[in-house]
Amino acid sequence: MDTLLLTAEQTDKAGEILAHGGIVAIPTETVYGLAASVYDTNAIENVFKAKGRPQDNPLIVHISSLEQLTSVAKNIPPEAYELAKRFWPGPLTMILDKQDSISDTVTAGFSTVAVRFPSHETALRIISAANVPLAAPSANLSGSPSPTEAGHVYADLNGRIDAIVDGGSCSVGVESTIVSLFERPFRLLRPGGITLEQLQSVLGEVVVDRAVTAKLSENEKVRAPGMKYRHYAPKAPVRAVKGSGRDTAEYIRSRITEKTAVICYREYADEFSNCYVYVYGDETAKDELARNLFSVLRETDAACPDIIYIQCPDDSGIGLAVANRIKKAAGFDITEL
Ligand code: AMP
Ligand code: MG
Repeated sequence: MDTLLLTAEQTDKAGEILAHGGIVAIPTETVYGLAASVYDTNAIENVFKAKGRPQDNPLIVHISSLEQLTSVAKNIPPEAYELAKRFWPGPLTMILDKQDSISDTVTAGFSTVAVRFPSHETALRIISAANVPLAAPSANLSGSPSPTEAGHVYADLNGRIDAIVDGGSCSVGVESTIVSLFERPFRLLRPGGITLEQLQSVLGEVVVDRAVTAKLSENEKVRAPGMKYRHYAPKAPVRAVKGSGRDTAEYIRSRITEKTAVICYREYADEFSNCYVYVYGDETAKDELARNLFSVLRETDAACPDIIYIQCPDDSGIGLAVANRIKKAAGFDITEL
């Protein structure tokens, strides 16, 4: 299949392809999504095939107005509207009771549906042009780092999907926060652009699912299937090092060989030599770390190092999301100093 490359102005064309059963990679503020009409089971199956995504990993449904929420979810608790008021449109996904019209293919057989109202203007225009909610996982090959630029999507999916809409770089850079409102206490299933602290300010108690911070054992129940897969992973083994910037830099420096890659904070870049060095942001600018993480992981991979060390931030604010993605890339191989 020839993959059409569209500009951010060609949202009508993208909508038309989607309305006719095609699958299209679209920019959002988090990462690029691979979209299909939520009502077209054949198109949804093609999304799974194009990504090589396991069938048991459900998709997020994207809406472009609050009115659409009731067409995909039911028994919506008041807290969902409180969250929507504060954080939608934006990088927050809510798990709610699904409407019967949402097929098991989208939800992987769950009785719940994941819903998000993105803020990216191009994404909103495409959903409106398609005139249906769009089911969309990240637009990468399953297991590789999520795409934050159209070029990343092209590298993974050219020839496997109908079109890619180029909307430039994603401003958040990590996937949406997923919160389950389907169970009490409410539960954070995946940290992302909306922080745990922000959720707590609206919901009060929020439990952090164990899969966010620790590797689950084989028979442990997984609430967000996506969290159980090794993910975001370059080919070389990744070693995450958590602690102060100074301590982690010292630790990594003493282990470098010329086939080592280091992903580090800008402040320490000059301290690493005779190895590959990639900066992903200032130590204190966690938004910048989130924005650059996936593209730096892809870049590092291209150098074919033997091993990748990465300075990992603490869990406050969006640090929880950055640390979660790093831990997953590292298969939870993390050194805490
Ligand atoms: P992706 O958009 O590729 O990041 O994948 C969507 C994420 O949403 C995956 O981690 C899924 O496991 C999660 N997800 C989607 N629907 C549900 C649901 N009904 N319950 C729990 N997690 C879900
Ligand atoms: Mg994904």
